[in-house]
Amino acid sequence: MNVLVYLDSADGRVKKPVYEAISYAKKLAQSAGGQVHGLILGSSEEANLKSLGKYGLDVAHHVDDTRFSSFDSRAYSMAIGRFVEENPCAHVVFAFNHRGKALAPRVAARLDLTYVPGAMALPAEDGTVVRGVNSGKAFAHVKANKSGMVLAVMSNAAGLLDESAEASLASFDPGLGDDAFSVKVVKVEKMEGGIPLTEADRVVSAGRGLKGPENWGMIEELADTLNAATACSRPVSDVGWRPHHEHVGQTGITVRPNLYFAIGISGAIQHLAGVNQSRTIVVINTDPEAPFFKAADYGIVGDAFDVVPKLNAALKAHSAA
Ligand SMILES: Cc1cc2nc3c(=O)[nH]c(=O)nc-3n(C[C@H](O)[C@H](O)[C@H](O)COP(=O)(O)OP(=O)(O)OC[C@H]3O[C@@H](n4cnc5c(N)ncnc54)[C@H](O)[C@@H]3O)c2cc1C
Repeated sequence: MNVLVYLDSADGRVKKPVYEAISYAKKLAQSAGGQVHGLILGSSEEANLKSLGKYGLDVAHHVDDTRFSSFDSRAYSMAIGRFVEENPCAHVVFAFNHRGKALAPRVAARLDLTYVPGAMALPAEDGTVVRGVNSGKAFAHVKANKSGMVLAVMSNAAGLLDESAEASLASFDPGLGDDAFSVKVVKVEKMEGGIPLTEADRVVSAGRGLKGPENWGMIEELADTLNAATACSRPVSDVGWRPHHEHVGQTGITVRPNLYFAIGISGAIQHLAGVNQSRTIVVINTDPEAPFFKAADYGIVGDAFDVVPKLNAALKAHSAA
């Protein structure tokens, strides 16, 4: 049976966190003896859709309807639900990002399937799926009491496939009337430049140890060199040293990059809750007793004002060589 993956997109291009969801869906489809079908709503780029074959997508279905140009969780979940009603699927997979979190439970309720938010790995042979709970401080092993699941998948849950294949294209009409659309977006203000935190593979984050906003130049330089997004602890955004959209942690954004630099951040439990699933954590702190060192893969006990410029110089010398 096939597996459906929702192809979350912006300006017609599928978002990066979805690539892993596709690879996850491919592995599920292989064990269900089917293919991976994707559904994209609104504008799309043909070449971009075809290229998703690389991550395991077999067929991309496009709903070419301008009413989907603004996000509306009601209409979107109705369209996804209708697709599955007409094209039965073993499971439905979402990336565990902003839209995935909004849509997956609605789709699960509509299709009467079990919802698994934040799946951290593929289901085990007996169907058990591991997911993070209590802000990532514990794991729950959950088992659906029905055969079909709606899985919202964390990054690093299954890795990325790299196949030399192209997805084929198809179209789908969910046949929704205007009454399905309940939201009208009147204005969109886009963030300029930088790598979006939720899509970043590498994150350079700094805290109150930086003393003031004027000292973020070296942090931005490190992020630039590493092609990383910048982030910060909550007090830093609370006092306005950095914008709120950079705040990570329990009350901010949850990130799970491959590399997380924590510079001048103590490692309070509320901060760790949003970053402790990162694959590799590097901590720079003057205090050898800072709690963050317990979660670190690499730690440097030192003054950020001394260490970070040296790191920047070393990385630049390395790239130049
Ligand atoms: C309900 C609730 C929710 C919260 N949610 C969040 C959240 O989502 N995210 C979050 O981040 N916090 C959150 N907090 C706040 C959290 O408890 C901590 O207070 C906060 O994370 C501390 O930020 P910090 O590490 O930047 O600052 P501090 O605790 O002041 O730590 C600064 C660190 O910098 C080090 N340092 C100082 N000078 C240097 C230097 N020159 N070089 C290197 N290191 C240096 C110090 O040794 C220290 O470890 C929450 C708190 C509550 C109560």
